[in-house]
Amino acid sequence: MCNKYIVNWSGSEDSSHINLYLCAHFLLGDIMEEKYFAELIKLIKKASKKDEVPISAMVVKENKIISKAYNRRVKKNNVLAHAEIIAINKASKKLKDWRLNNCDLYVTLKPCSMCETIIKQSRIRNVYYLLEKPKEKKEYNKTKFYKANICTYVTEYEARLRDFFKKKRDK
Ligand SMILES: [Zn+2]
Repeated sequence: MCNKYIVNWSGSEDSSHINLYLCAHFLLGDIMEEKYFAELIKLIKKASKKDEVPISAMVVKENKIISKAYNRRVKKNNVLAHAEIIAINKASKKLKDWRLNNCDLYVTLKPCSMCETIIKQSRIRNVYYLLEKPKEKKEYNKTKFYKANICTYVTEYEARLRDFFKKKRDK
């Protein structure tokens, strides 16, 4: 049984480029492994038992599972405790680096917008998911953002930010 999949992509290249593209991606390790989804299914069973929305996630690097997690928002009373975020935190601790270069994330459901941002920030390479988000799942939109135009603090903060990055550059 073949348990490796070349990642789908959409592009306008003609077919001669397609083979090159696939070869390159094969060599770079952009291959989705079915076995990790079996692990994810085991994890969602744990989540369901604990009355958590069954979503699970895993960080994989060089064919090794670095971390696994399932949604624990209720148990932890923590809005951040989505499976993806927990898996990313665990992986960062284990690898002693917040940048998860060359890591892939396997997740049961397509990540929400919060997780998507964190995933991108963490430099995860590929995200593989089983299901799209349910259509009725709304993004929350009640929060309003206001810019505080308090000159003293705006000026001081601007200067401190500038100094910080200048020192970094000068190092
Ligand atoms: Zn999320």
